[in-house]
Amino acid sequence: MALKALDIFKLLPKTNCKKCGCPTCLAFAMKLAQKQASLDQCPDVSEASKLELAGASAPPIRLVTIGDGPNKLEIGNETVMFRHEESFYHPAGVGVMIADTLDDGALKARIDKIRKLKFVRVGISMHANIVAIVNASGKAEPFAKAVQAASALDLPMVLMSSQAAHLNTVLTTFAGKKPLIHAATATTLEAFITLAKTHSCPLTITAPDLDQLVPLVEKARAAGLQDIVLDVTMPSISKTLQALTAVRRMALKKNMRTLGYPCLVTNSTVDPLVNVSECCMYVAKYAGIVLTELDNPEQLMPILTVSQNLYTDPRKPIQVEAKLNAIGAVTSDSPLMITTNFSLTYYTVAGEVEASRVPAYIGVLDTEGTSVLTAFASDKLTSEKVAAFLNSDEVKSKVSHRKVIIPGYIAVMSGGLKDESGWTVLVGPREASGISKFLKTTWANA
Ligand code: SF4
Repeated sequence: MALKALDIFKLLPKTNCKKCGCPTCLAFAMKLAQKQASLDQCPDVSEASKLELAGASAPPIRLVTIGDGPNKLEIGNETVMFRHEESFYHPAGVGVMIADTLDDGALKARIDKIRKLKFVRVGISMHANIVAIVNASGKAEPFAKAVQAASALDLPMVLMSSQAAHLNTVLTTFAGKKPLIHAATATTLEAFITLAKTHSCPLTITAPDLDQLVPLVEKARAAGLQDIVLDVTMPSISKTLQALTAVRRMALKKNMRTLGYPCLVTNSTVDPLVNVSECCMYVAKYAGIVLTELDNPEQLMPILTVSQNLYTDPRKPIQVEAKLNAIGAVTSDSPLMITTNFSLTYYTVAGEVEASRVPAYIGVLDTEGTSVLTAFASDKLTSEKVAAFLNSDEVKSKVSHRKVIIPGYIAVMSGGLKDESGWTVLVGPREASGISKFLKTTWANA
């Protein structure tokens, strides 16, 4: 729970010396409470106060890093129950489990499939961002071989085995890649804590329910372990969702440090459609890592899409650059459509133009990332603004005709735009799905 400014103030020297750049200690405390300053800006704060402030101001859910380098995965450090309260910050790790019982050919095929699980949506690249190797054989050698093969993916790894000795063998080679060790239980906790501390890797802890999980986490914390992930996979989806929600709620609302860690869920549901639906729900309700046995593109894409949608900041719509874009082999006679710089709107229109195979220009207006109707209703997409764009050098230098296609939803703008710009205004379809037909018929005869 965030400290209030007055609580912080009580721990400061109260000399108002201004060395921190603030006029008073109280002003500095207020900045600290708003996370606009850091404690080390005050050179005179006592060690005891530092300890107290550092502990109390730690995030309610710890940020845990898995992997190293540019592909490392950071999970946790979330601050709200619901995205609309502020934002979710660290997208869930979505990954595929690989059993070490696969023969060489099947192992290679699975890894190749995982490597190809990459998609571009609304201009953003997304992909399976973690991989789990399961010691299903119960033997050391196949496990080491599968980990070696999976390491070629250069993704953060989850090493899943009940055998500390097998994990230790693998970690001797791969500890530098900071894999997540999975998973300590009541019977293996001490050995797994030793493993995690020896190799400086994050550790997953699991138990049949949260009541049994809490004392295990307490023991790990008491042993000095900080980077912990909680595996809360339960026997049914409802129980798993309950556990995920309870962990988030207890961490944020009750400041319960023993549950202040990101959660991991595994999903082995056989029916792929049900598996995908469950994974999407886990991403939405609050899993930090979701591991599935599915590996087909059409199965992973919906899960990654849910994650992408949830983990964009609702206060900052994803935007594309406002400019004149050419789709296909355009000429100066090609049609010109206008739309807004809301990423989803632009890529929907661009996709339909591309599919129509009619080369066209798309003029993107800066509407602060809002969609067509929202922009029009809030005066961010006005006839004056569109007219200024149409008569700009950017458009004049590339388009020789004077006919513009506006979205069907803002047909009411057509008269004003014609007067303002001197251009002929064609009202396009209301839905992007009608663009192809419009270009091939209405535009062709205009
Ligand atoms: Fe107060 Fe420390 Fe700032 Fe001085 S440097 S005004 S003691 S908070």
